Amino acid sequence: MHADPPSSPLALAARRHADDVIKPQVREWERDALFPREAALAAAADGLLGLFAPGTVGGQGASLAEAMDVFEELGRGDAAYAFALSMHNAVANAISRSGQPELRERYGPGLVSGELLGGFSLTEPHAGSDAAAITTQAVAVDDGWRVTGRKAWVSLAGEADVFVLVCRTGSERGTADVLMLAVDARAEGVRVERLYDKAAAAFLPIGEVSYTEVHVPSHALIAPPGQGMRAALGAIDVARVDIAAISVGLAAEALAIALDYARDRKAFGGTLLDLQAIQFALADVETDVVAGRMLYRFCPDAALRASIACSEVLGAYGLLHEYPLARFLAHAKMLQVVDGTTEVQRIVIARDLARR
Ligand SMILES: Cc1cc2nc3c(=O)[nH]c(=O)nc-3n(C[C@H](O)[C@H](O)[C@H](O)COP(=O)(O)OP(=O)(O)OC[C@H]3O[C@@H](n4cnc5c(N)ncnc54)[C@H](O)[C@@H]3O)c2cc1C
Repeated sequence: MHADPPSSPLALAARRHADDVIKPQVREWERDALFPREAALAAAADGLLGLFAPGTVGGQGASLAEAMDVFEELGRGDAAYAFALSMHNAVANAISRSGQPELRERYGPGLVSGELLGGFSLTEPHAGSDAAAITTQAVAVDDGWRVTGRKAWVSLAGEADVFVLVCRTGSERGTADVLMLAVDARAEGVRVERLYDKAAAAFLPIGEVSYTEVHVPSHALIAPPGQGMRAALGAIDVARVDIAAISVGLAAEALAIALDYARDRKAFGGTLLDLQAIQFALADVETDVVAGRMLYRFCPDAALRASIACSEVLGAYGLLHEYPLARFLAHAKMLQVVDGTTEVQRIVIARDLARR
């Protein structure tokens, strides 16, 4: 069930991608634990891999509002897949807008066409919310940088062709020496050390990647020392809004499934939907979906509430794989953390309020 028609050609393409590509195949992807590169190529053909990238590299140059409609539609298909596309778009955007001409030409068109995939790499095993504690080192050499360190929770580890890497030149915590580089995943010294065995999204590889004396050419500098953390947090700000839209999509899809089920399921001489307790539960989810769409802020929390309420409407059947609600539950929990936790987002908003 789709409540509203998509608001733009890109959102329509995303809805088609969710209905025709993601939903019919996602359980197979999950079972095979393989990232669906062909699906990503199909997404690229519809413009979904170069959402923010400029027309010069074949991108859509979409506004944030247009991209949010796209991510809500993708979130209805599968939140983990939508998240992978969000991270990829962050990389395509950073390289094709802030990269030097040689870097833009080298990776921009491939990232937009889906021939190449991108991963964003800030988090380290000891540094998550506390990003200023990262220690991955970039030492300046004649023709570029030599990078050594270890990154954690790298989305598309082993699948991405290029990483946007946040690292530093010194050894003190803080942001004054933090820079951002593009590193080719096939460069000598780049190694996937481990892939996490996660509660959900088996097809989305996420893991730890080590860098040992990796040579990175000068033209791969995206943000110089002192500007790297600002650039990284700017990318994360956009990604957090993507996550909010994906969460609204997840909640809206959970509601659609529970509503269809409650309308058909016979109980106590009528249907489940005749029961006021079920009507109230679904009305609360609809309120969260509509409020979330307007607010796009704490949507992962709303998505988690929606997945719990909607899977309860199906009773025992909510636990079966033939409905995706149990998977949605795990995804909603994941969405609370992926681009910085909901708690830390509250801190960011409070800081902004204090500055006004
Ligand atoms: C599925 C998934 C994909 C990811 N993909 C990427 C990726 O592609 N690239 C990347 O760089 N990272 C990625 N991450 C990492 C993600 O950004 C971090 O997990 C996140 O920033 C939180 O860090 P942490 O897990 O180390 O938790 P911690 O920072 O250790 O936090 C632990 C708990 O303490 C709370 N907390 C921490 N600091 C404060 C505070 N000051 N006040 C109140 N509470 C606080 C947090 O909210 C959390 O509940 C991904 C994570 C997940 C789950």
